[in-house]
Order: sequence, then structure tokens, then C-alpha cells
Amino acid sequence: MNEYSKYSFWLETCGENLTPRPPLPKSIEVDVAILGGGFTGLWTAYYLLRTNPRLKVAIVEKEIVGFGASGRNGGWCSSKFPVTPAMLERRYGIKAARELMLAMCDAVDEVGRVCAEENIEAHFHKGGILTLARGAHHLPMIRASFDAYQRLGLGDQYQLLSADQARERVRVTNISGGLFARENASLHPGRLVRGLARAVEKRGGSIYELTEVSRFEGGSVPRFGTPSGEIRARKAVVLAGESYLSQLPALHRVVLPVYSLISLAAPLTEMQWQQVGWINRESLASCNYTVDYLTRTPEGRILFGSRGAPYRFGSKISEEQDRHAETHSRIQNLVLEWFPMLQGIQFTHSWGGPVGMPRDWMPMTHFDLTTKIATARGYAGQGVSTTNLTGRILAELISGQRTALSALPLAQRRSPLWEVEPLRWLAVRYMQNAFFRIDQAGEQGKPKDAFLAEYLGRH
Ligand SMILES: Cc1cc2nc3c(=O)[nH]c(=O)nc-3n(C[C@H](O)[C@H](O)[C@H](O)COP(=O)(O)OP(=O)(O)OC[C@H]3O[C@@H](n4cnc5c(N)ncnc54)[C@H](O)[C@@H]3O)c2cc1C
Repeated sequence: MNEYSKYSFWLETCGENLTPRPPLPKSIEVDVAILGGGFTGLWTAYYLLRTNPRLKVAIVEKEIVGFGASGRNGGWCSSKFPVTPAMLERRYGIKAARELMLAMCDAVDEVGRVCAEENIEAHFHKGGILTLARGAHHLPMIRASFDAYQRLGLGDQYQLLSADQARERVRVTNISGGLFARENASLHPGRLVRGLARAVEKRGGSIYELTEVSRFEGGSVPRFGTPSGEIRARKAVVLAGESYLSQLPALHRVVLPVYSLISLAAPLTEMQWQQVGWINRESLASCNYTVDYLTRTPEGRILFGSRGAPYRFGSKISEEQDRHAETHSRIQNLVLEWFPMLQGIQFTHSWGGPVGMPRDWMPMTHFDLTTKIATARGYAGQGVSTTNLTGRILAELISGQRTALSALPLAQRRSPLWEVEPLRWLAVRYMQNAFFRIDQAGEQGKPKDAFLAEYLGRH
């Protein structure tokens, strides 16, 4: 097995041996150069080439395609957006918020369509998302989300469930109710990201792996600098490195790397599944601020993901954070707390990775016509479908063939920068600790002592 397979179950089971493609051999000139072989870079390349098959597009990836969050996530391909519908409504008004939510639903279906068209066996399954109120303190949150979707005229996509109705779908402890959202899918992200790379190559795109971009420059001929030479681009350079962009000095404060960690159980027996239910394979979530996301994989495993590994000073990214033992053990305890009938269950894989948090929680796409620098980033841990939308928007902005997508609120905008250290570290660690305290207080029926964090967390 190739050493890259250790980064996630998805890379291990993507059906490829993960031998890196050759690095950039020498300086080259292309139309569009893209930093990052994740979903953002690949979708952008894919739609650029679909619009104009003669375009010369090159992707430069410091490791291998799918090394970043795209090859490590929870497999939710969802119409959920990092900013809540109520907040979108407040920031942009009902019409723009509704259009964005509809575009997100379309992005989910578009991912499924491309998988079918390009023969990408990504196990796309449109099972919806069931958000569970675990305790009465979660019920007002679920009700508020449902009300906000109704105000946007999207109420028919959502169904409020009583505790009994939710329990009929899955037998999780402590359920007080639920919200079912049908326009959501789950998939095998490793197969999607690797399959997309093949689709890009089939359409004439080039991918150079093991090639790190150390600097970028805008201008009439923007360029990337790498150890083996420059890539000069006639039309645009695209920065599609998500959380890793924070490691480039010029972009240090644009996103914050926050770790999301996953533990994966061994396949359950038929008897265990009869006890658990969950036959529709919806993705599951709680309303916790510390984020709980679950997937039932096609081979009958439970994937449980959550936040928790502490933010490191200076936005440090390290493999040691992927393996943060305390967080993985908390996640494994949560599996048993949710499903006590699974005592003795084994966990075969634990991994994690950084997600890119923008200062205002709002993803962005931007193309500067003067510098010819384009970017899409800041998915706040919800990028599997959002990258499809931003990839299409970036392709439109770069090719100049704009549609209504380029007028969505996430197009041609920039998020504010994060604070400088040590302020950033203090603020983020306060938020991380406060989210734990809010969740615990709710479970114990105690008053919350972290009002500021609660306010900031309601994005
Ligand atoms: C554990 C985890 C669980 C998640 N779960 C979900 C989920 O269930 N659903 C969901 O919607 N989202 C989820 N996300 C988020 C989602 O995976 C991301 O938002 C999405 O994959 C971002 O794609 P991207 O291409 O922008 O970034 P990435 O996939 O991170 O790709 C960026 C690439 O750029 C490369 N790179 C960085 N710097 C350089 C450089 N200087 N030179 C060359 N290459 C460089 C990196 O190696 C990397 O491959 C999760 C993320 C994590 C980490």
C-alpha cells in the first residue's frame, strides 16, 4: 500500500495505488494555472475545460490529488451552507438567500450528474440529512432552522419530526425530535476526487504532483514559483489550497486551519444493524456547537466526525493534529453514547485534517481582472458540494461567460482577515473551549456561561 493511503480510509479504498504523477519538470506557460489538487482546483479545471476544450490548464499539487480535506472528509455532499439560512437572510435578504440555497441543492445533483457522466464510481447516495435534537435544549434550534427555510419558500424540502418519528429512522439515545432535509447525499470522497482528476486529464488538463508552489505573483502574466520552475499563465492563476493557503506568508490570515477528526468503526453485523435501524442511510448530525456528523457507509460502517483538536498558535498545520488522541477517544465514546447497543465495537481507522475557516464563516470566490489572481476558499468544513458551485463560478469569472451564478452572494467577495497573533490564538481557543461548555451546559440543563461564543457561533 502506498504511504498516502494512511491519510484516510477514503484514500486507502479509492481503488488506485496512489503513485504520484510526475512533478513539474521545467518552467511552462499555460492559460490557467491552479494551485491545489482538491475539489476546488479540480472542479474549476473541469468546468473551464468543458466550456473551452482548447484551453491549456495545469494543476500543481504539493502532494497528491486528494491529499487535503477533499480526500479526508465525512462524505456529506450536502445542500447545507456554512452560514445558516437565517443569517443569510439577514445579510443578503430573502431573494439572494433563497437563490443561494437553491444553487446549493443544484450543486448536490450536479455532483451526482457528473459522477454518472464521467463514470466516477463515487457511491453517490441521496439519502438526505437527519439533524437530531438530542435533548429538549436542541428543539428551539431545529424549529428556528425550519422556520427560516419556510421564510425562504423552501419548507417543502424539510420535515420536522417528533421524537418517535426520528427514532423510527435511527435508534439513537436521547432523541427529542429531528429535522429531515431531503436534498442531500453522501459519497466516497476519495473516489470522487481521484475520478475527477482523471476526468480533467481526459479533457486535456495537466496535473503535476509533488510540486509545491512557494510563491505567486499577479500581473499581465501572473505566475507560480515552484522548485522546478515557473508556471506562467496567460489568463489566470487560481489559489485553491483552502486551509493550506494560511501557510503561504502572503495569505497567512485569510483562513484559519481548524481540525475536524473522524473515527471509523468496523462493519457492523446484520444483527447490530437491526438494532440500530438507519436503513435509509441518511447522514446524521446533532445540534452541538462542537459539531457531530455521521455517515453510514455502503459497507456497513459508522463514520463519526467531530471538532476538538485545539487550534495551534500561528495557524500551524501538522500531522500530529490529525491524530489528536484525546479527540479520537472522545469521538469513540460518543459512538457508544449514541448507540449503547454497540458495546465492544472496534474502530479500524482514525484520521483528520484541517478545514479552512474564513473570518465571517462565508465561503468566497473572487477573480481580480487586474492581477488575474482567482481564488475560492473558506468552506468552514462544508465544501464537498460547495466546491462544485465555486468551481463553476470561478470558471465563469475567468472565461467571462457569466450566468446568474456569478451574481450569488458568495461570488466576487472577500472575507475579512483574521486577527494577528497572539490575539488570534486567544480568541480561537476561547471559542473552542466555550463551544464545549455550551454543549455540556445544555446536556446538564444548566445556564450557559459563554454568551459571546454562542452569539459568534450562530453564523
Ligand atoms: C475531517 C474532515 C471532514 C470533513 N467533512 C466534510 C463533509 O462531510 N462534507 C463537506 O461538505 N465538507 C467536509 N469537509 C470539508 C471539505 O472536505 C473541504 O471543504 C473541501 O474538500 C475543500 O476542498 P479544496 O479543494 O478547497 O481544499 P483541499 O481538499 O484541502 O485541497 C487543497 C490542496 O492544495 C494543496 N496545496 C496546498 N498548498 C499548496 C502549495 N503551496 N502548492 C501546491 N499545492 C498545495 C494541498 O496539498 C491540497 O491537496 C471536511 C474536511 C475535513 C478535514
